[in-house]
Amino acid sequence: MRIGIVGAGISGLYLTSLLGAKGYEVSLYDPRTPWEKPCGGGITFRTYSAFPVLDGFRSQCLAVHHMRMVAADGEYCTVSYPDPILIASRQELGAYLLTSLESKESVKLIRANVDRVVPQGRRWRLSAAGRRDSCDLLIGADGVNSLVRRTVAARFSKEETALAVGYWVEGAPEEPEVMIGFLSGLSGYIWVFPRKDHLSAGIAVRTGETTGKKLFSCLDGFLKKNLPGFEKRNRTRYSALIPSLSSRGLSANRICGENWALTGDAAGFVDPLTGEGIYYAFRSAELLFEAISCGRLMAYEEACRKDIVPELDCASSYVHRFYDPEVTARLVTLSRDHPAVRNLVADLAAGTQGYLSLKKEVLKILPGLTRDVLSGIFKKR
Ligand SMILES: Cc1cc2nc3c(=O)[nH]c(=O)nc-3n(C[C@H](O)[C@H](O)[C@H](O)COP(=O)(O)OP(=O)(O)OC[C@H]3O[C@@H](n4cnc5c(N)ncnc54)[C@H](O)[C@@H]3O)c2cc1C
Repeated sequence: MRIGIVGAGISGLYLTSLLGAKGYEVSLYDPRTPWEKPCGGGITFRTYSAFPVLDGFRSQCLAVHHMRMVAADGEYCTVSYPDPILIASRQELGAYLLTSLESKESVKLIRANVDRVVPQGRRWRLSAAGRRDSCDLLIGADGVNSLVRRTVAARFSKEETALAVGYWVEGAPEEPEVMIGFLSGLSGYIWVFPRKDHLSAGIAVRTGETTGKKLFSCLDGFLKKNLPGFEKRNRTRYSALIPSLSSRGLSANRICGENWALTGDAAGFVDPLTGEGIYYAFRSAELLFEAISCGRLMAYEEACRKDIVPELDCASSYVHRFYDPEVTARLVTLSRDHPAVRNLVADLAAGTQGYLSLKKEVLKILPGLTRDVLSGIFKKR
């Protein structure tokens, strides 16, 4: 079986390396891999502990132990991660994953943009910068604007994406801490992710809520206030879309057919609350590899519905309530004043606390929290 994978981002590279290790004949297409994809580059504990392939990459990341959350009214608190978040340049991560293909003889990397995929009987014909190729199984690992997705299903609608704009800011970070800024009147947040020799700062909200220009001005205001020397530092702008599916979008989302499949962003697998997609890019590649290697491609969708979709579905149900400025302001003050809340927030940020069991965990800490709050109110002066 000849497999054509469009896109050598995280998902495409990881899937190719798994398939190549088993001798599958794979053609992987990407004109620019490895490249500095617009991204925070934050790799959570959940991700690096689940994928040993990342073990050799840790030394190229900045390990960050603290996160500062800033509410829209300027109140802030600092949370310590139980295990650090690793922050990396996407170009370096891509280059690292590419090295895992070097010894795989059945794998061909074709540095070309695929501009057309056409079904031909049970096979696919691909055109890539003047080349004509064919494959039996077509995989779309080609990100949020996926050509494969547009061919086999439909592109993401505006409502199914978030708009992100940001900067790569030159210079090593003085304070290696993650900064998260909450907004007033917009359903998203600002992030500042320090890397080894620069930082990635950005803002993401639901597409259509406001313009890119207004997002940049909101981000600039935050960075001027919170990032010393921001105005004097060289920076490069970026903007990008992030898949952000609602419950309805997730249940209608088709990610494979008899001879095609989608992974990572192309499949819509990004946490709609936080924009975290690196974990899902790896995980969906792994689930697809398992389905291909046991000869049951259709089992892939079933596996994702069990393993990935429930968490994303739960996250999507929190989006509107969570980004209410009153809620985020309360989250910041509660985290500042109560260690149990702070720990829960740290676990959420590290990915070790999922959304599905969040309510149960909140109920567990509630009695102590109520006691703290009430004893504060009734304390004798
Ligand atoms: C601003 C921003 C910040 C983010 N921050 C974080 C973060 O800190 N942590 C986190 O976990 N997630 C983050 N994400 C999400 C994360 O970047 C994605 O979920 C992740 O990159 C998905 O990986 P992927 O391999 O599916 O797609 P991509 O990384 O997008 O890779 C797709 C690849 O396909 C190639 N391609 C596209 N079209 C074609 C074509 N026609 N022919 C050939 N090749 C093609 C592209 O060149 C690209 O290399 C962020 C996203 C954005 C936009």
